[in-house]
Amino acid sequence: MQELLSCPICSGTRLQRALHVKDHSVSHETFQVQRCLECSFLFTNPRPGPSEIAPYYQSEEYISHTNSKKGLLNTVYQWARKRAIRSKLGLLNTVAKGPKTLLDYGCGTGEFLAAAVQSGWVGAGLEPDPGAREQARHNHRLNVEDPSGLKALPDGQFGAITLWHVLEHVHELQETVSQLKRCLASNGVMIIAVPNAQADEVQHYGEHWAAYDVPRHLYHFTQDSMIRLMQQHGLACVSVEGMFFDPFYISLLSERYLHGGFRPLQAVYRGTQTTWRARKQTNLNSSLLYIFKHRE
Ligand SMILES: [Zn+2]
Repeated sequence: MQELLSCPICSGTRLQRALHVKDHSVSHETFQVQRCLECSFLFTNPRPGPSEIAPYYQSEEYISHTNSKKGLLNTVYQWARKRAIRSKLGLLNTVAKGPKTLLDYGCGTGEFLAAAVQSGWVGAGLEPDPGAREQARHNHRLNVEDPSGLKALPDGQFGAITLWHVLEHVHELQETVSQLKRCLASNGVMIIAVPNAQADEVQHYGEHWAAYDVPRHLYHFTQDSMIRLMQQHGLACVSVEGMFFDPFYISLLSERYLHGGFRPLQAVYRGTQTTWRARKQTNLNSSLLYIFKHRE
């Protein structure tokens, strides 16, 4: 296990235990989430180190990186993912004004990257999971490398860099953001989606909120902490919005963790409530989608 002695964002050393959260999907172990008393950032601590984390992704239930079509939940997930890819691509094509070169950091099995390439982008992908890289190569003929390749990429190469639910998994947080910023073209956009630890439904689900997803989620970002982190690297937030499916998907899993079993009606109720309350207050969304540019 790896224990951080200071806050990954502000380096503050006054850390307080905030929550005990169970890993519901793989190990069923319990992990501590700590809060930095300087900046309020929440993070999983201690956490499995980079060489220890892989087993925590080994599960039939952990479907983010696979294409298994078993079960109703997976069917809904696959359908939602297709819709989500279309909406991500629409956003990318709307906000990106620089060169049509894309880096999808943590590209998984490459579905989004493949869709972007089809719509005219020159795409590169980095992904730590060898199985997912192999699927990206095999299914989409994408050349996907291990994230250690990031350091070797040229300065200012990418008109867009995307991290779809990825940054919360990255051990070397500051170093990774610094390298990504280096690779971003001067007029490029960085698009980052992460769960929002201040989501409306967190009040209801507490430690059973599915997007804590310990120990795979190392950080539990809020709008404030994300913007603070990126500011440290000279990146300015130009927009924040919610993600349509996440309140429903996160509530569906959270219902299972809190009550056991499949409770779609309750999940739809909770997801609708979050969506409704977040329509005027963005930072109540289950997940937030940020767009960053170089600060002028
Ligand atoms: Zn801090």
